[in-house]
Order: sequence, then C-alpha cells, then structure tokens
Amino acid sequence: MTLTLFILYLALVATLMRAVLVKARVASARCAQCGLPFERKELGESVCRCGR
Ligand SMILES: [Zn+2]
Repeated sequence: MTLTLFILYLALVATLMRAVLVKARVASARCAQCGLPFERKELGESVCRCGR
C-alpha cells in the first residue's frame, strides 16, 4: 500500500518536473536575429517580431 503511494508520488513529481523543464526551455528560447524572447513573460515586455 505504501509502496503504491510512493510510486504514484514519483510519477507525479516526474510529470511536474517535465512540465517545469519544458516551460523553462520555452521561456529561455530567444530569437537568433534580434535576441528577444518569442513569448512574453511579463506584460509589456518586448518580444520577437521578425516573423511578423
Ligand atoms: Zn527576432
């Protein structure tokens, strides 16, 4: 019973970690031409407009 809960906990942590890693990668992705991020993290922040 305890082992089952432990495995479920590990699965949950792994899922959360993957989500955080993916989010961090997207947030750190920057345009090679202008150096600005592709996605806005804060309101009013400058983002890449090379593709637009
Ligand atoms: Zn750009």
